[in-house]
Amino acid sequence: MASSYLAAASSGLLARRIDQSRRLLARCTLCPRRCKVDRLAGKVGLCRTGALAEIASYGTHFGEEAVLVGEHGSGTIFFCGCNLLCVFCQNDDISHPEKHSCLPVDDQRLAQIMVELQEQGCLNINLVTPSHVVPQILAALPAAIANGLKVPLVHNGSGYDTVATLQLLDGIIDIYMPDFKFWSTDSARRYAKAADYPQVARQALREMQRQVGDLQINAQGQAQRGLLVRHLLMPGGFAETDAILRFLAEEISVNCYVNIMDQYRPAGRADEFTELAAAISAAEYRQAMQRAEQYGLARLDRRNFAGLLRHLLDK
Ligand code: SF4
Repeated sequence: MASSYLAAASSGLLARRIDQSRRLLARCTLCPRRCKVDRLAGKVGLCRTGALAEIASYGTHFGEEAVLVGEHGSGTIFFCGCNLLCVFCQNDDISHPEKHSCLPVDDQRLAQIMVELQEQGCLNINLVTPSHVVPQILAALPAAIANGLKVPLVHNGSGYDTVATLQLLDGIIDIYMPDFKFWSTDSARRYAKAADYPQVARQALREMQRQVGDLQINAQGQAQRGLLVRHLLMPGGFAETDAILRFLAEEISVNCYVNIMDQYRPAGRADEFTELAAAISAAEYRQAMQRAEQYGLARLDRRNFAGLLRHLLDK
C-alpha cells in the first residue's frame, strides 16, 4: 500500500497544505491553545516552539506497539515542546524545551532525518508530539519524497488537536496514534490546564477515524494505515477509563485498535499531586482490559496481553 503523501505530492495537494499551514504560524492558531503569536517572527506560545521545529532526538525505536516496529524498528523523531504539558509527563524535559538541549531543524534537515531513518530499515516515520509542528513536518516532505521517502507517517500525539489542523493532514498521514488521556474536564484542567481536552479529543478522534478508518495490518503484522488509540491508565481513574473505552466502542468503531497502557509511574511534577503517587495495580489493569472486552473492543494491543500474563504470573 503506497503512503498517501506520495499521491498528495503528485497532485499538488501537499504544496497547497504547506502554504495553508504556514500561514497559521503568523498568528498561531494551530492547536486549541490559540496563542495567536507570530511564530514566523520567532515569538513563542505555550508550546515554546517558534518558526523552526526543534528535535530532542531521533532513531530506531523498538518500544512501540509491535505493529509499528517490524524487524528494524519504528523511526521515531521526538519533537521538543508540547501543546498539552501534563503534570505527570514521562518526557518532562523534552516537552519543556527550556529544560533540554533541543536542536532546531530546517525543512531540509528534517527531510534528511526522515530519509535516514527509512534507510536504516524503519517501518515508518513516527512523529512524536507533532501537533505544534504540523507546518514544519509538511514543509519537509517535498525534499524527503525527492530523496525517496515512501514509508508511512505516524502522527503520534496527545489527542489535543483541532479538527482544522487535522484536516490539513488529510491525505498526508496514514497512521494516527493519539492518546485519549482524560474524560473529565476537572482532570484535564487539574493535570494539563486544558479543561476542553475531553471535548477536543473526542472531535479529533472522530476526524482521524473519518480520514483513515480502522487500523489495517498486513500479512507481516505491520500497520499500514488507520487509527490506533492509546490510553494510559491513571491511579484511581477507572471511571474515566470506562467512559473512554465506551466512547471508542460506540462512537469510533468496535474495531478500533486500542493500546491500554499500564506503565504509569509518577514523573514530571506528579509529586505535587498526592493522588498521582501510585502505580497501576495488576487488578486495575485487568479490570480495564475486561471492560474493553465487555464493550466489544477486541483489537487490544498484543504486547499488553503479554503484560497481562506477566501480571497474572506475578500474582
Ligand atoms: S501550536 Fe503552540 S503557539 Fe500555536 S496555538 Fe498551539 S501552543 Fe500556541
